[in-house]
Amino acid sequence: MTTGIETTDSGVCDLKSYLGGRWVGGSGQGHELVNPVNGAAVARCSTGGMDLAAALTFARRYGGPTLRALSFKARAGLLAAIADALAARRERWFEIAKVNSGNTKADAAIDIDGAIGTIRYFSRLGAGLGESRILAEGSPARLARDANFQGLHVGVPVKGVAVHINAYNFPAWGLWEKASVSLLSGVPVLAKPATATAWLAEEMVQCVVESGILPEGAISVACGPAYGLLESLEFGDVVCFTGSAGTGNSIRSHPRVLSRGVRVNIEADSLNAAILGPDAEVNGAGFSFFVREVVREMTVKAGQKCTAIRRILVPASLARPVSQAICDGLEQVIVGDPAEASVTMGPLVNRTQKDAVEEGIRNLASESQIVFQTSPSRFVRADAENGAFVAPALLLSGNESRLSNEIEVFGPVATVIPYSGKREAFSIAERGAGSLAASVFSTDLEFLAEAALELAPSHGRILLVDPSIGDSHTGHGIVLPSCIHGGPGRAGGGEELGGLRGLWFYHQRVAIQASVAVLSSVVQPAANVAISGS
Ligand code: NAP
Repeated sequence: MTTGIETTDSGVCDLKSYLGGRWVGGSGQGHELVNPVNGAAVARCSTGGMDLAAALTFARRYGGPTLRALSFKARAGLLAAIADALAARRERWFEIAKVNSGNTKADAAIDIDGAIGTIRYFSRLGAGLGESRILAEGSPARLARDANFQGLHVGVPVKGVAVHINAYNFPAWGLWEKASVSLLSGVPVLAKPATATAWLAEEMVQCVVESGILPEGAISVACGPAYGLLESLEFGDVVCFTGSAGTGNSIRSHPRVLSRGVRVNIEADSLNAAILGPDAEVNGAGFSFFVREVVREMTVKAGQKCTAIRRILVPASLARPVSQAICDGLEQVIVGDPAEASVTMGPLVNRTQKDAVEEGIRNLASESQIVFQTSPSRFVRADAENGAFVAPALLLSGNESRLSNEIEVFGPVATVIPYSGKREAFSIAERGAGSLAASVFSTDLEFLAEAALELAPSHGRILLVDPSIGDSHTGHGIVLPSCIHGGPGRAGGGEELGGLRGLWFYHQRVAIQASVAVLSSVVQPAANVAISGS
């Protein structure tokens, strides 16, 4: 290997799992993790022979009680220390992201800095909740003629383990956006990173464990397939999953999940749309902001972002000029080995994904016209035979296209879909059958407001861009810890993050009915509730 990263004698990193308070290796050959630039093995992991049931029992017995005994403020202190420990090794994380995920520096920053920023956000949020250990919702309500009898909804942390099953595309952010909310809630975590990119997650957990920040049992990580994990769930555990719709459905309907009443949050695939408003003019302000965002979304992390723009909805009269402008933008993208300073888009995570994306492009092309595809001859230092490089591709469909509203191609691929009139634009966006994010670009503020409410029932997040925020908004695909991440229908129906809202998934909401004096004792010292008998 030429990475400078330490490896074992065999030349690959031997990843372990942290279960039951110790690092353990799995039996058997295990699974190979590769460098997507050249297909070389860089790490190996196995969960063979591991007792995941015992690991969950350990977390329930030790991690849960210790975390629940801490106030939000104390748990927030743990998060701050985790963020500091991870930030101190930032360069190491970037190196692993390059070697195992093919990330450019900009791609890795979204994952790694996004992870650290999210932990810090929830640390600040928790500090603001003070010495309380419960969440209170709203104000107490009088329940009877006697004003002394009142009711209040409060949230207490669940008593099980938060099982976090993550997708391969965000090994750092996926781990910590879930873990920070769970730990702040007082619920121990067992993380199961996707096998293909488990290296970064494994080393980050190792860094936190070695720092001695967290109490015993508060965090575990299983690197490798999740044999026996779901079968070991108990009432009180929760599962938070990110990945494909198929796996999500199998988790949701798993007999153990059903029989134990395990709460499940699913973040699945999504055909996110960006809409250029009917008022757009070629090279006008809305047009330029729109084109820039589409090109960025298609190519950041080589399009391996669940929130990436897959469908580009434009007024029919502008289909050609918009397509041309996007092609011009894609022309500037330099695909290749992320170790090369000039490269702006790396490979996909492995050849399995490359094959899937190429097949997806072929399927889309059966109904749409490919109007742009970078020639592989322009790739920089790309191993065509063993690497996982895919050329960015733009397609143009008719407004009756079916497949562009059905197939999620998880790579640098998107389809321009022309629409006639705003009603048709909204209805095409809805054909995604439930999406994570939509963005709308227009100079017409009334249209933007109307679009928000039209798109809201089928989306989890909507970005409305008028020229006043053209340069300052955070982007179509960027998930912010203060805004919910998730979407209805096909996107899984889940909700993560969103500030305090995210904490509720890890809490049991309960209605407490009692006298004012007793209610006051229950919520003491919840900073956000005032109970009065009048
Ligand atoms: P995937 O194949 O569904 O895998 C996701 C995770 O589930 C991995 O950790 C995988 O482990 C695990 N898994 C697979 N089968 C399982 C089972 N029977 N029981 C428990 N865990 C199981 O998805 P992927 O290919 O990694 O990710 C790509 C997909 O994720 C895309 O469709 C994308 O849209 C979606 N995604 C969604 C979001 C979102 O926030 N909505 C974010 C990112 C990605 P192994 O790796 O060990 O198989």
